[in-house]
Amino acid sequence: MEGAVGQSGVAIDTAGMAKYLGDWSGDHRGGALAVLKPASVAEVQAVVRLCGALGLGIIPQGGNTGLVAGAIDIETRGAVIVSLERLNAIRLVDADNFVLQADAGCILQTVKDAAEAHDCLFPLALGAQGSCQIGGNAASNAGGINVLRYGMARDLILGLEVVLPDGELWSGFSGLRKDNRGYDLKQLFIGSEGTLGIITGVELKLFPKPIRVETAYLGLASFEAAIALFRQARRASADLMSAFEIIGSECIELARLIDADISSPVEAPVHVLIELSASAAVELRTLLVDFLAGAMESGLVTEAVLAESSAQARSFWAIREGLVEGQAKRGYHVRTDLAVRISDVPALVDQARRFVGLDHPGWLPQAYGHAGDGNIHFNVLPPAGLAESEARAQGADITGGLYRIADALGGSISAEHGIGRTRNRAFWAGLAPTHRRLVTALKDALDPQGLMNPGCLLPLTETSS
Ligand SMILES: Cc1cc2nc3c(=O)[nH]c(=O)nc-3n(C[C@H](O)[C@H](O)[C@H](O)COP(=O)(O)OP(=O)(O)OC[C@H]3O[C@@H](n4cnc5c(N)ncnc54)[C@H](O)[C@@H]3O)c2cc1C
Repeated sequence: MEGAVGQSGVAIDTAGMAKYLGDWSGDHRGGALAVLKPASVAEVQAVVRLCGALGLGIIPQGGNTGLVAGAIDIETRGAVIVSLERLNAIRLVDADNFVLQADAGCILQTVKDAAEAHDCLFPLALGAQGSCQIGGNAASNAGGINVLRYGMARDLILGLEVVLPDGELWSGFSGLRKDNRGYDLKQLFIGSEGTLGIITGVELKLFPKPIRVETAYLGLASFEAAIALFRQARRASADLMSAFEIIGSECIELARLIDADISSPVEAPVHVLIELSASAAVELRTLLVDFLAGAMESGLVTEAVLAESSAQARSFWAIREGLVEGQAKRGYHVRTDLAVRISDVPALVDQARRFVGLDHPGWLPQAYGHAGDGNIHFNVLPPAGLAESEARAQGADITGGLYRIADALGGSISAEHGIGRTRNRAFWAGLAPTHRRLVTALKDALDPQGLMNPGCLLPLTETSS
């Protein structure tokens, strides 16, 4: 293995591998035969060829923030983790063409900073942006807070460079915005969660950097009111709305676990964080103030605080970001990432709360999310004092119940975090036969040995035959 990546690119001892075997949440720990850290595309190819020759499973790993055990081996313990962390250069920023090329192991924040240094915006924005990698974002088709304006990672990627499971390099960089020459192969790898190859480079779309941003923190009576507000805001904001986040007031305590000084600007049962942004001197504040005045007059919004400074805007966002970290501090909990049609968000939250209240009294629901995309993280904290093993057993039932509710509404069990190993069985069970046949055909065509990320996305039983 040292022949492929050099001595500093291999870890096989417990201490050297430790940080690669557990995920951000602390919920999942896995094992590996070795952790390999190639520092060039040629080294990635050498690693893949070596693993192929030895018949070893390969688990690509980015920042390990994925939350669904996609980048750690919680089942087989017989695979090799390939960390992209040493493949981390910005290759090119071409502001004239609004294009950036980067190695897959670049931290998302580094990509954003490089774009900003050229007066551009790379709009993918999520709580883990200081540790997740752009290759991981591509492999998981990450979403985040700006999806409603700029789309998912899938919409922001112009080209990919991928080491295929046989070690060959496929390069799909062209800088072209339009290219209809047959199948759009990059789309196969986006969201494939490391099951079809290792992404080594990404070519990204940039946008003009916003020079004006207005943020408001609002109080409303219900999720229904929040979705009604979203509809109106979408039309009133002249397409300048860049974020619309909903937070159930029960989540605020979680943010305080991270920073005791956090205080909510409003007292209402449901909070909304709305952001408008523009790259030219548009009168955003007037737009927002006029819109909110109407929404308050009609009774839809009960309280509204407009950020008077960027520091105050940051304090609003600290609530949204803190509540995610605060949950991790609480230890094991049910974590979901559900998507329904935007108009079904209130029904989803209502039915999920009722289900937990009736069937699992004592468990504490927390509902928040990128509601402008119909994406709700309906998480549930176990009652204080419940032993972790019992909490995990009950948590599996709760998760199943929540999936059934989303399914009955025609929704998805994974809006943006992916399938990984925690949802692979539910994913597979929910697929129609034709869909399964197509998924299997793709996997077999690209990875006939079944070496890429075994157990991720496709349950092991489906790929071991
Ligand atoms: C606090 C917090 C907030 C978050 N908020 C959001 C959010 O708003 N929206 C959202 O979408 N997600 C969110 N996430 C989840 C996570 O950050 C994203 O899924 C992110 O895209 C994962 O990137 P990563 O580099 O950490 O990938 P990893 O977790 O390392 O890997 C994820 C998957 O991609 C594969 N993979 C990684 N790198 C490569 C590569 N180079 N080639 C091929 N396969 C690869 C892995 O095998 C795995 O299956 C959040 C996570 C945290 C901890």
